[in-house]
Amino acid sequence: MTGPDFDGDALTCVVVIDGTVVMVTVEMANMNRCTKCGKLDLAKGKQPIQLDVGDRSFEGHVQGWACASCNELYYDGPDLGAFEEAAATWLAEHGVRTPEELKFMRKAAGIRAADLASWLGVTPETVSHWETGKHAPDVVMRSVIARIVVDTLRGESVTRDFLQVQGKPEGTRKVRLDRDAA
Ligand SMILES: [Zn+2]
Repeated sequence: MTGPDFDGDALTCVVVIDGTVVMVTVEMANMNRCTKCGKLDLAKGKQPIQLDVGDRSFEGHVQGWACASCNELYYDGPDLGAFEEAAATWLAEHGVRTPEELKFMRKAAGIRAADLASWLGVTPETVSHWETGKHAPDVVMRSVIARIVVDTLRGESVTRDFLQVQGKPEGTRKVRLDRDAA
């Protein structure tokens, strides 16, 4: 799928292929022509969206354009990203049930599979197996991953920092704790 003609703004189209959300972003100038029907009939505004992640779907509205002639919808890239982040936060806070949800949550938070594996002390193959459903992460792993996703979306690294410290505990034998009133 290609985007409509436009000027300046980034345009993202959402396509679902075999249950995987694929986004196509096209950069052009003055968005005005519908790629599907070719008409100059695009109106900007909040557009309804349904984002399917496995058998769960997230519904809401995303800024974009609607073609008055053929009803094709185009979504604004950054606002679509914000919608995906909101869906990832929801999953982290309500529990991940499926490999599709796990993969979506990680990607929506902008976390590379290799980085996640490294932080968790598992191999990239293990993460791949979790995301394809070959094996399932246990509740501890799922909880830590959800925590990392929430941190990341807030621009924080608390959980990653804890993992790093626990992975390499300090060897200091004598630790002085000053507990004087601050
Ligand atoms: Zn159209």
